[in-house]
Amino acid sequence: MNKIQMKTPLVEMDGDEMTRIIWQMIKDILICPYVDLKTEYYDLGLVYRNETNDQVTFDSAEATKKYGVAVKCATITPNAARMPEYNLKEMWKSPNGTIRAILDGTVFRTPIIVKGINPFIPTWTKPITIARHAYGDIYKNTEFQVPAGAKAEIVVTNADGSISRELIHDFSDGAGIVQGVHNTDKSIAAFARTCFNYALDTRQDLWFATKDTISKKYDHHFKDIFAEIFEANYKEKFDKAGIEYFYTLIDDVVARVIRDKGGYIWACKNYDGDVMSDMVATAYGSLGMMSSVLVSPDGIYEYEAAHGTVQRHYYKHLKGERTSTNSVATIYAWSGALRKRGELDGTPELCAFADKLEAAVITTIESGIMTGDLYSLSTLDNKKSVSTEEFLDAIKANIES
Ligand code: NAP
Ligand code: MG
Repeated sequence: MNKIQMKTPLVEMDGDEMTRIIWQMIKDILICPYVDLKTEYYDLGLVYRNETNDQVTFDSAEATKKYGVAVKCATITPNAARMPEYNLKEMWKSPNGTIRAILDGTVFRTPIIVKGINPFIPTWTKPITIARHAYGDIYKNTEFQVPAGAKAEIVVTNADGSISRELIHDFSDGAGIVQGVHNTDKSIAAFARTCFNYALDTRQDLWFATKDTISKKYDHHFKDIFAEIFEANYKEKFDKAGIEYFYTLIDDVVARVIRDKGGYIWACKNYDGDVMSDMVATAYGSLGMMSSVLVSPDGIYEYEAAHGTVQRHYYKHLKGERTSTNSVATIYAWSGALRKRGELDGTPELCAFADKLEAAVITTIESGIMTGDLYSLSTLDNKKSVSTEEFLDAIKANIES
Protein backbone atom coordinates (compact mmCIF):
# COMPACT_ATOMS: atom_id res chain seq x y z
CA MET A 1 0.00 0.00 0.00
CA ASN A 2 1.26 3.49 -0.86
CA LYS A 3 1.71 5.70 2.15
CA ILE A 4 0.46 9.30 2.11
CA GLN A 5 3.35 11.70 1.52
CA MET A 6 3.94 14.90 3.49
CA LYS A 7 5.49 18.00 1.92
CA THR A 8 6.47 19.82 5.12
CA PRO A 9 7.30 18.34 8.52
CA LEU A 10 5.20 18.75 11.64
CA VAL A 11 6.92 19.88 14.80
CA GLU A 12 6.57 16.95 17.16
CA MET A 13 6.84 17.66 20.90
CA ASP A 14 7.11 14.46 22.91
CA GLY A 15 6.11 14.44 26.58
CA ASP A 16 5.86 12.51 29.83
CA GLU A 17 4.44 9.53 31.70
CA MET A 18 1.36 7.71 30.36
CA THR A 19 0.81 10.15 27.53
CA ARG A 20 4.39 9.50 26.34
CA ILE A 21 3.57 5.78 26.17
CA ILE A 22 0.34 6.50 24.28
CA TRP A 23 2.19 8.91 21.97
CA GLN A 24 4.44 6.16 20.65
CA MET A 25 1.54 3.70 20.33
CA ILE A 26 -0.54 6.19 18.31
CA LYS A 27 2.34 6.71 15.90
CA ASP A 28 3.10 3.00 15.59
CA ILE A 29 -0.48 1.73 15.33
CA LEU A 30 -2.52 4.52 13.78
CA ILE A 31 -0.28 6.87 11.81
CA CYS A 32 2.98 5.44 10.50
CA PRO A 33 1.33 2.47 8.70
CA TYR A 34 -0.60 4.99 6.54
CA VAL A 35 1.42 8.20 6.44
CA ASP A 36 5.07 8.63 5.54
CA LEU A 37 5.36 10.73 8.67
CA LYS A 38 7.77 13.66 8.53
CA THR A 39 8.40 15.42 11.82
CA GLU A 40 11.03 17.58 13.40
CA TYR A 41 11.26 15.89 16.78
CA TYR A 42 11.69 17.70 20.12
CA ASP A 43 11.80 15.70 23.31
CA LEU A 44 9.90 17.77 25.89
CA GLY A 45 9.97 14.91 28.39
CA LEU A 46 11.14 16.21 31.76
CA VAL A 47 14.40 14.23 31.66
CA TYR A 48 15.57 15.96 28.50
CA ARG A 49 14.19 19.37 29.50
CA ASN A 50 16.32 19.10 32.64
CA GLU A 51 19.34 17.95 30.64
CA THR A 52 19.07 20.94 28.27
CA ASN A 53 18.16 23.48 30.98
CA ASP A 54 14.76 23.73 29.28
CA GLN A 55 16.39 24.95 26.04
CA VAL A 56 14.54 22.23 24.13
CA THR A 57 11.20 23.86 24.99
CA PHE A 58 12.33 27.20 23.54
CA ASP A 59 13.76 25.46 20.46
CA SER A 60 10.49 23.60 19.87
CA ALA A 61 8.52 26.86 20.03
CA GLU A 62 10.89 28.52 17.55
CA ALA A 63 10.53 25.52 15.23
CA THR A 64 6.75 25.88 15.48
CA LYS A 65 7.08 29.47 14.29
CA LYS A 66 9.15 28.23 11.37
CA TYR A 67 6.92 25.34 10.24
CA GLY A 68 3.54 26.68 11.37
CA VAL A 69 2.09 23.45 12.81
CA ALA A 70 3.04 21.46 15.91
CA VAL A 71 1.62 18.52 17.82
CA LYS A 72 2.38 18.28 21.52
CA CYS A 73 2.19 15.47 24.07
CA ALA A 74 1.22 16.29 27.66
CA THR A 75 4.20 17.23 29.83
CA ILE A 76 4.92 17.41 33.53
CA THR A 77 4.95 20.87 35.06
CA PRO A 78 7.38 20.24 37.91
CA ASN A 79 6.34 20.82 41.51
CA ALA A 80 8.23 20.08 44.73
CA ALA A 81 7.54 16.33 44.49
CA ARG A 82 9.10 16.16 41.01
CA MET A 83 12.45 17.62 42.18
CA PRO A 84 13.76 14.39 43.76
CA GLU A 85 11.74 12.13 41.41
CA TYR A 86 13.57 13.51 38.36
CA ASN A 87 16.65 14.83 40.11
CA LEU A 88 15.92 18.29 38.71
CA LYS A 89 18.42 21.15 38.58
CA GLU A 90 15.55 23.66 38.79
CA MET A 91 11.78 23.65 39.05
CA TRP A 92 11.39 24.26 35.31
CA LYS A 93 8.43 26.34 34.17
CA SER A 94 5.35 24.90 32.48
CA PRO A 95 6.28 24.14 28.84
CA ASN A 96 2.76 25.20 27.82
CA GLY A 97 3.29 28.59 29.45
CA THR A 98 6.65 29.02 27.72
CA ILE A 99 5.30 28.04 24.30
CA ARG A 100 2.20 30.20 24.71
CA ALA A 101 4.32 33.21 25.60
CA ILE A 102 6.60 32.72 22.57
CA LEU A 103 3.72 32.19 20.12
CA ASP A 104 1.56 34.88 21.81
CA GLY A 105 -1.29 32.46 21.32
CA THR A 106 -4.85 31.80 22.41
CA VAL A 107 -6.00 28.34 23.52
CA PHE A 108 -9.20 26.92 22.01
CA ARG A 109 -10.66 23.88 23.77
CA THR A 110 -13.30 21.71 22.15
CA PRO A 111 -15.01 18.57 23.50
CA ILE A 112 -15.20 15.49 21.27
CA ILE A 113 -18.80 14.31 21.19
CA VAL A 114 -19.90 10.68 20.77
CA LYS A 115 -23.21 8.85 21.08
CA GLY A 116 -23.63 7.30 24.50
CA ILE A 117 -21.59 9.89 26.40
CA ASN A 118 -24.24 12.47 27.16
CA PRO A 119 -23.40 15.96 28.37
CA PHE A 120 -24.91 16.89 31.74
CA ILE A 121 -26.74 19.66 29.87
CA PRO A 122 -29.19 17.79 27.60
CA THR A 123 -29.51 20.70 25.13
CA TRP A 124 -25.79 20.48 24.26
CA THR A 125 -25.72 18.37 21.12
CA LYS A 126 -22.78 20.17 19.49
CA PRO A 127 -19.41 21.12 20.95
CA ILE A 128 -18.87 24.48 22.61
CA THR A 129 -15.35 25.75 21.98
CA ILE A 130 -13.92 28.00 24.67
CA ALA A 131 -11.25 30.56 23.82
CA ARG A 132 -9.54 32.04 26.84
CA HIS A 133 -7.64 35.31 26.74
CA ALA A 134 -4.47 34.29 28.55
CA TYR A 135 -3.03 37.67 29.49
CA GLY A 136 -3.51 40.16 32.31
CA ASP A 137 -6.52 40.96 34.52
CA ILE A 138 -6.30 39.30 37.95
CA TYR A 139 -3.52 36.97 36.73
CA LYS A 140 -1.08 39.89 36.73
CA ASN A 141 -2.53 41.86 39.60
CA THR A 142 -1.08 44.01 42.35
CA GLU A 143 -2.95 43.78 45.61
CA PHE A 144 -2.78 45.12 49.14
CA GLN A 145 -4.41 44.50 52.44
CA VAL A 146 -5.27 47.99 53.57
CA PRO A 147 -5.25 49.06 57.24
CA ALA A 148 -8.00 51.17 58.74
CA GLY A 149 -7.49 54.87 58.20
CA ALA A 150 -5.70 54.45 54.88
CA LYS A 151 -6.81 55.87 51.57
CA ALA A 152 -6.32 53.90 48.34
CA GLU A 153 -5.85 55.72 45.04
CA ILE A 154 -4.97 54.84 41.46
CA VAL A 155 -2.12 56.95 40.13
CA VAL A 156 -1.14 56.93 36.45
CA THR A 157 2.06 58.74 35.59
CA ASN A 158 2.00 59.73 31.93
CA ALA A 159 5.04 59.81 29.63
CA ASP A 160 5.25 63.60 29.98
CA GLY A 161 5.34 63.31 33.77
CA SER A 162 1.79 64.54 34.30
CA ILE A 163 -0.30 62.58 36.76
CA SER A 164 -3.87 61.29 36.74
CA ARG A 165 -5.15 60.30 40.12
CA GLU A 166 -8.41 58.82 41.30
CA LEU A 167 -9.73 57.69 44.69
CA ILE A 168 -10.52 53.98 44.95
CA HIS A 169 -11.75 54.00 48.52
CA ASP A 170 -11.30 55.84 51.77
CA PHE A 171 -10.75 53.22 54.48
CA SER A 172 -11.34 55.59 57.42
CA ASP A 173 -14.19 53.35 58.63
CA GLY A 174 -12.07 50.18 58.79
CA ALA A 175 -9.52 47.94 57.08
CA GLY A 176 -10.02 46.27 53.70
CA ILE A 177 -8.39 45.16 50.47
CA VAL A 178 -7.49 46.67 47.08
CA GLN A 179 -6.40 45.24 43.78
CA GLY A 180 -4.89 46.76 40.63
CA VAL A 181 -5.27 45.02 37.30
CA HIS A 182 -4.35 45.89 33.75
CA ASN A 183 -4.47 44.76 30.18
CA THR A 184 -2.93 46.06 26.95
CA ASP A 185 -4.52 47.08 23.66
CA LYS A 186 -1.97 44.92 21.87
CA SER A 187 -2.90 41.76 23.75
CA ILE A 188 -6.64 42.35 23.51
CA ALA A 189 -6.34 43.04 19.76
CA ALA A 190 -4.27 39.89 19.23
CA PHE A 191 -6.89 37.89 21.14
CA ALA A 192 -9.67 39.39 19.04
CA ARG A 193 -7.92 38.70 15.72
CA THR A 194 -7.10 35.13 16.73
CA CYS A 195 -10.72 34.48 17.68
CA PHE A 196 -12.06 35.98 14.42
CA ASN A 197 -9.57 33.94 12.39
CA TYR A 198 -10.38 30.74 14.23
CA ALA A 199 -14.12 31.31 13.74
CA LEU A 200 -13.52 31.68 9.99
CA ASP A 201 -11.20 28.69 9.96
CA THR A 202 -13.71 26.42 11.68
CA ARG A 203 -16.85 28.14 10.25
CA GLN A 204 -18.48 28.70 13.60
CA ASP A 205 -20.17 31.74 15.14
CA LEU A 206 -18.12 33.70 17.65
CA TRP A 207 -19.64 34.88 20.94
CA PHE A 208 -17.91 37.33 23.23
CA ALA A 209 -19.10 38.78 26.51
CA THR A 210 -17.84 41.04 29.28
CA LYS A 211 -19.38 43.06 32.10
CA ASP A 212 -19.23 46.37 30.23
CA THR A 213 -22.35 47.81 31.87
CA ILE A 214 -20.57 47.84 35.23
CA SER A 215 -16.96 48.20 34.07
CA LYS A 216 -17.54 51.16 31.77
CA LYS A 217 -13.89 51.70 30.86
CA TYR A 218 -12.05 48.43 31.45
CA ASP A 219 -14.48 45.83 30.14
CA HIS A 220 -15.95 48.32 27.69
CA HIS A 221 -12.51 48.65 26.12
CA PHE A 222 -12.50 44.92 25.33
CA LYS A 223 -15.90 45.31 23.67
CA ASP A 224 -14.72 48.34 21.65
CA ILE A 225 -11.50 46.72 20.43
CA PHE A 226 -13.37 43.60 19.31
CA ALA A 227 -16.00 45.75 17.54
CA GLU A 228 -13.43 47.95 15.75
CA ILE A 229 -11.39 45.03 14.49
CA PHE A 230 -14.52 43.17 13.42
CA GLU A 231 -15.95 46.10 11.47
CA ALA A 232 -12.63 46.94 9.81
CA ASN A 233 -11.35 43.49 8.89
CA TYR A 234 -13.80 40.66 9.42
CA LYS A 235 -17.40 41.73 8.81
CA GLU A 236 -17.33 40.93 5.09
CA LYS A 237 -15.46 37.67 5.58
CA PHE A 238 -17.98 36.56 8.21
CA ASP A 239 -20.90 37.46 5.91
CA LYS A 240 -19.33 35.48 3.11
CA ALA A 241 -18.72 32.48 5.38
CA GLY A 242 -22.29 32.70 6.71
CA ILE A 243 -21.16 33.06 10.32
CA GLU A 244 -21.88 35.68 12.96
CA TYR A 245 -20.01 37.70 15.57
CA PHE A 246 -22.21 38.23 18.57
CA TYR A 247 -21.43 40.42 21.59
CA THR A 248 -23.49 40.42 24.75
CA LEU A 249 -23.23 40.74 28.54
CA ILE A 250 -21.52 37.92 30.43
CA ASP A 251 -24.72 37.22 32.42
CA ASP A 252 -26.74 36.98 29.23
CA VAL A 253 -24.22 34.71 27.56
CA VAL A 254 -24.27 32.26 30.47
CA ALA A 255 -28.05 31.95 30.13
CA ARG A 256 -27.76 31.50 26.36
CA VAL A 257 -24.99 28.90 26.68
CA ILE A 258 -27.20 26.72 28.85
CA ARG A 259 -30.17 27.00 26.46
CA ASP A 260 -28.31 26.76 23.14
CA LYS A 261 -27.29 23.54 21.40
CA GLY A 262 -23.58 24.42 20.94
CA GLY A 263 -21.54 24.62 17.76
CA TYR A 264 -20.01 28.06 18.40
CA ILE A 265 -16.85 29.59 19.88
CA TRP A 266 -17.20 31.37 23.20
CA ALA A 267 -14.43 33.92 23.68
CA CYS A 268 -13.80 34.68 27.33
CA LYS A 269 -11.78 37.18 29.30
CA ASN A 270 -9.03 35.53 31.32
CA TYR A 271 -10.95 34.77 34.52
CA ASP A 272 -14.19 33.85 32.76
CA GLY A 273 -12.23 31.45 30.54
CA ASP A 274 -10.44 29.87 33.48
CA VAL A 275 -13.69 29.11 35.29
CA MET A 276 -15.99 28.42 32.35
CA SER A 277 -13.59 26.06 30.60
CA ASP A 278 -13.59 23.82 33.69
CA MET A 279 -17.35 23.97 33.89
CA VAL A 280 -17.83 23.21 30.19
CA ALA A 281 -15.27 20.37 30.25
CA THR A 282 -16.96 18.72 33.23
CA ALA A 283 -20.41 19.12 31.74
CA TYR A 284 -19.35 17.34 28.53
CA GLY A 285 -18.11 14.29 30.40
CA SER A 286 -14.47 13.24 30.35
CA LEU A 287 -11.13 15.04 30.33
CA GLY A 288 -9.96 12.34 27.95
CA MET A 289 -12.36 13.76 25.32
CA MET A 290 -11.24 17.40 25.39
CA SER A 291 -9.03 18.60 22.56
CA SER A 292 -7.02 21.78 22.62
CA VAL A 293 -5.22 23.98 20.12
CA LEU A 294 -3.00 26.99 20.68
CA VAL A 295 -3.38 29.49 17.82
CA SER A 296 -1.25 32.58 17.29
CA PRO A 297 -2.64 35.76 15.70
CA ASP A 298 -0.51 35.14 12.61
CA GLY A 299 -1.89 31.64 12.13
CA ILE A 300 0.50 29.23 13.84
CA TYR A 301 -1.16 26.13 15.32
CA GLU A 302 -0.07 23.84 18.13
CA TYR A 303 -2.39 20.88 18.82
CA GLU A 304 -2.58 18.91 22.06
CA ALA A 305 -4.90 17.10 24.46
CA ALA A 306 -6.34 19.22 27.27
CA HIS A 307 -5.53 16.63 29.96
CA GLY A 308 -2.22 16.00 31.70
CA THR A 309 0.18 13.06 31.75
CA VAL A 310 -2.26 10.72 33.60
CA GLN A 311 0.33 9.90 36.25
CA ARG A 312 -1.62 7.27 38.21
CA HIS A 313 -2.06 5.14 35.08
CA TYR A 314 1.66 5.47 34.31
CA TYR A 315 2.68 4.04 37.67
CA LYS A 316 0.35 1.08 37.02
CA HIS A 317 1.92 0.68 33.59
CA LEU A 318 5.42 0.67 35.13
CA LYS A 319 4.35 -2.13 37.47
CA GLY A 320 3.24 -4.14 34.44
CA GLU A 321 -0.44 -3.78 35.30
CA ARG A 322 -3.19 -3.37 32.68
CA THR A 323 -4.14 0.23 31.95
CA SER A 324 -7.20 1.65 30.25
CA THR A 325 -6.14 5.18 29.39
CA ASN A 326 -8.20 7.25 26.98
CA SER A 327 -6.10 8.22 23.96
CA VAL A 328 -8.85 10.09 22.08
CA ALA A 329 -7.75 13.66 22.83
CA THR A 330 -4.15 12.81 21.91
CA ILE A 331 -5.27 11.13 18.67
CA TYR A 332 -7.25 14.28 17.85
CA ALA A 333 -4.13 16.34 18.48
CA TRP A 334 -2.43 14.29 15.76
CA SER A 335 -5.40 14.37 13.38
CA GLY A 336 -5.81 18.13 13.92
CA ALA A 337 -2.14 18.76 13.16
CA LEU A 338 -2.10 16.47 10.11
CA ARG A 339 -5.25 18.11 8.72
CA LYS A 340 -3.84 21.60 9.21
CA ARG A 341 -0.55 20.51 7.57
CA GLY A 342 -2.55 19.14 4.66
CA GLU A 343 -4.53 22.39 4.33
CA LEU A 344 -1.41 24.55 4.37
CA ASP A 345 0.56 22.30 2.01
CA GLY A 346 -2.30 21.60 -0.39
CA THR A 347 -2.23 17.85 0.22
CA PRO A 348 -5.93 16.86 0.46
CA GLU A 349 -5.06 13.19 0.97
CA LEU A 350 -3.52 14.12 4.34
CA CYS A 351 -6.73 15.97 5.32
CA ALA A 352 -8.78 12.97 4.20
CA PHE A 353 -6.65 10.68 6.36
CA ALA A 354 -7.24 12.95 9.39
CA ASP A 355 -10.99 12.76 8.76
CA LYS A 356 -10.81 8.98 8.42
CA LEU A 357 -8.84 8.62 11.65
CA GLU A 358 -11.34 10.71 13.61
CA ALA A 359 -14.28 8.82 12.08
CA ALA A 360 -12.65 5.52 13.11
CA VAL A 361 -12.31 6.79 16.70
CA ILE A 362 -16.00 7.76 16.85
CA THR A 363 -17.14 4.50 15.22
CA THR A 364 -15.10 2.49 17.72
CA ILE A 365 -16.62 4.18 20.76
CA GLU A 366 -20.13 4.16 19.31
CA SER A 367 -19.80 0.44 18.61
CA GLY A 368 -19.31 -0.04 22.36
CA ILE A 369 -15.51 -0.37 22.58
CA MET A 370 -14.06 2.21 24.97
CA THR A 371 -11.61 2.90 27.77
CA GLY A 372 -12.55 2.74 31.45
CA ASP A 373 -13.22 6.46 31.91
CA LEU A 374 -15.85 6.37 29.14
CA TYR A 375 -17.23 3.00 30.20
CA SER A 376 -18.32 4.50 33.52
CA LEU A 377 -20.19 7.30 31.67
CA SER A 378 -21.57 5.55 28.60
CA THR A 379 -25.27 4.77 28.27
CA LEU A 380 -24.72 2.13 25.54
CA ASP A 381 -26.07 -1.37 26.33
CA ASN A 382 -23.28 -3.25 24.57
CA LYS A 383 -20.39 -1.26 26.11
CA LYS A 384 -17.11 -2.96 26.84
CA SER A 385 -14.08 -1.57 28.69
CA VAL A 386 -10.80 -2.37 26.92
CA SER A 387 -7.13 -1.73 27.61
CA THR A 388 -5.12 1.21 26.28
CA GLU A 389 -3.68 -0.91 23.49
CA GLU A 390 -6.86 -2.86 22.64
CA PHE A 391 -8.63 0.45 22.13
CA LEU A 392 -6.00 1.57 19.60
CA ASP A 393 -6.15 -1.80 17.84
CA ALA A 394 -9.93 -1.50 17.56
CA ILE A 395 -9.55 1.95 15.96
CA LYS A 396 -7.02 0.50 13.54
CA ALA A 397 -9.47 -2.25 12.58
CA ASN A 398 -12.06 0.45 11.85
CA ILE A 399 -9.60 2.42 9.71
CA GLU A 400 -9.04 -0.68 7.63
CA SER A 401 -12.64 -1.79 7.30
P1 NAP B 1 -4.26 14.61 34.48
O1 NAP B 1 -3.03 13.98 34.00
O2 NAP B 1 -5.13 15.25 33.43
O3 NAP B 1 -5.09 13.51 35.25
C1 NAP B 1 -6.09 13.75 36.20
C2 NAP B 1 -6.99 12.53 36.31
O4 NAP B 1 -7.98 12.60 35.29
C3 NAP B 1 -6.27 11.21 36.07
O5 NAP B 1 -5.67 10.72 37.22
C4 NAP B 1 -7.39 10.35 35.53
O6 NAP B 1 -8.25 9.90 36.59
C5 NAP B 1 -8.18 11.33 34.70
N1 NAP B 1 -7.69 11.41 33.30
C6 NAP B 1 -7.07 12.45 32.69
N2 NAP B 1 -6.80 12.15 31.43
C7 NAP B 1 -7.23 10.90 31.23
C8 NAP B 1 -7.20 10.02 30.12
N3 NAP B 1 -6.65 10.41 28.95
N4 NAP B 1 -7.71 8.78 30.26
C9 NAP B 1 -8.25 8.38 31.42
N5 NAP B 1 -8.31 9.17 32.50
C10 NAP B 1 -7.80 10.41 32.41
O7 NAP B 1 -3.95 15.77 35.54
P2 NAP B 1 -3.02 15.78 36.86
O8 NAP B 1 -3.04 14.44 37.51
O9 NAP B 1 -3.45 16.96 37.59
O10 NAP B 1 -1.56 16.05 36.32
C11 NAP B 1 -0.60 15.05 36.02
C12 NAP B 1 0.60 15.72 35.37
O11 NAP B 1 0.21 16.30 34.14
C13 NAP B 1 1.20 16.83 36.21
O12 NAP B 1 2.61 16.68 36.26
C14 NAP B 1 0.81 18.11 35.47
O13 NAP B 1 1.83 19.08 35.58
C15 NAP B 1 0.68 17.64 34.06
N6 NAP B 1 -0.27 18.41 33.21
C16 NAP B 1 0.12 18.70 31.94
C17 NAP B 1 -0.73 19.35 31.08
C18 NAP B 1 -0.26 19.65 29.68
O14 NAP B 1 0.86 19.30 29.32
N7 NAP B 1 -1.06 20.25 28.87
C19 NAP B 1 -2.02 19.69 31.48
C20 NAP B 1 -2.41 19.36 32.80
C21 NAP B 1 -1.53 18.70 33.64
P3 NAP B 1 -8.04 8.49 37.33
O15 NAP B 1 -6.63 8.48 37.84
O16 NAP B 1 -9.07 8.57 38.39
O17 NAP B 1 -8.28 7.40 36.33
MG1 MG C 1 -9.46 26.61 35.64
